[in-house]
Amino acid sequence: MLKRIDLSRDFQKHRKEYLEAIEAVCEETAFSGGRFADQFDKEFAAYCGVPYAAGVNNGTSALHCAMMALGIGHGDEVIVPANTYIATAWGVTYTGAVPVFVDCTKDTWEIDPDKIEEKITDRTKAILGVHLYGQPFEFGKVKEIADKHGLYVVEDCAQAHGALYQGKMVGSLGELGCFSFYPGKNLYAFGEGGSVTCHKREYYDAITTIKNQGCQVRYYHDVVGYNYRLEGIQGAVLSVSLNFLPEWTDRRRQIGKCYINEIKNPLITMQVHPENTDPVFHLFVITTKDPDHFIAYMDKKGMECNKHYPVPCHLQKAYADLGYKEGDCPNAEYLASHCVTLPLFPEMTQDEVKMVIDACNAYTL
Ligand SMILES: *Cc1c(COP(=O)(O)O)cnc(C)c1O
Repeated sequence: MLKRIDLSRDFQKHRKEYLEAIEAVCEETAFSGGRFADQFDKEFAAYCGVPYAAGVNNGTSALHCAMMALGIGHGDEVIVPANTYIATAWGVTYTGAVPVFVDCTKDTWEIDPDKIEEKITDRTKAILGVHLYGQPFEFGKVKEIADKHGLYVVEDCAQAHGALYQGKMVGSLGELGCFSFYPGKNLYAFGEGGSVTCHKREYYDAITTIKNQGCQVRYYHDVVGYNYRLEGIQGAVLSVSLNFLPEWTDRRRQIGKCYINEIKNPLITMQVHPENTDPVFHLFVITTKDPDHFIAYMDKKGMECNKHYPVPCHLQKAYADLGYKEGDCPNAEYLASHCVTLPLFPEMTQDEVKMVIDACNAYTL
């Protein structure tokens, strides 16, 4: 069975490097924060082309920290795409602010800049865009709207490590960039991890205080903080895998391009990737008329597929009190009820890529 994603192949290939890195942390007992976590922060900031990266314990915390660093809280609203992983909205909700969901476009499946302005009120503080599936959203247009209304733009980069928008790294475009290193993301920890990237020292200081129990000087707590520190072992593992990321990204792009060029079946629709972007194919999502039928078909042929994501945020039970109903974000709803994610990960062999392509091309209803 070809899994949708198989992390064990990477571990088997790089076992020695990973275990040595973990051992080094153990030798120094630098388990929470510390030298290895700090070293990864520096390397990740350099990779993203920003002066600062603050490692945190997961991507959801990264989003929460970003919102807090901007002073967002009770009475505020933040614009969020309706089609994303739910954690994008959690970061907003944790502060007491309200996520306001906006539909995606019909073809790129990214936040639709033309539908943002109608959702802006005098309570709106920020637009939190998501580079969904590794495809950068239309940052230029979103930024233009934000500037016109005096709003911040924050990037959710949890699925897009290394993706480029007009030649620039995601995470370096907006006020703050939020990353996840959950296992299965393009860059991943051996456990949980996340990071917030930024250009401004004041945000970095705010976030390092928030994530570290509200203090810069031990036992002197200036604000109510959280325990959101990155673990030392995760920092050490991430420093190892950051060296592999460019190679992994090249291979993801190669596989993505094979799928785009060679899957030709009118029953399968793909995401549109605008010319001014270089996506990183975190998830290769297609739409088809009957996703359950397609997934069962692929399963029978020995390939695992799944759905990202079957319910859009505005229709999740957790947000029922916000009063959204079916029809509010039609493109996101269409995507949710028709999406299928094909197997794609850097260690896939070319034979496996071909097997996916052939199965897709042979698919009939
Ligand atoms: C994974 C993910 C998150 C959350 O990251 P965690 O590390 O799992 O907390 C947030 N937003 C998006 C778009 C994600 O894919």
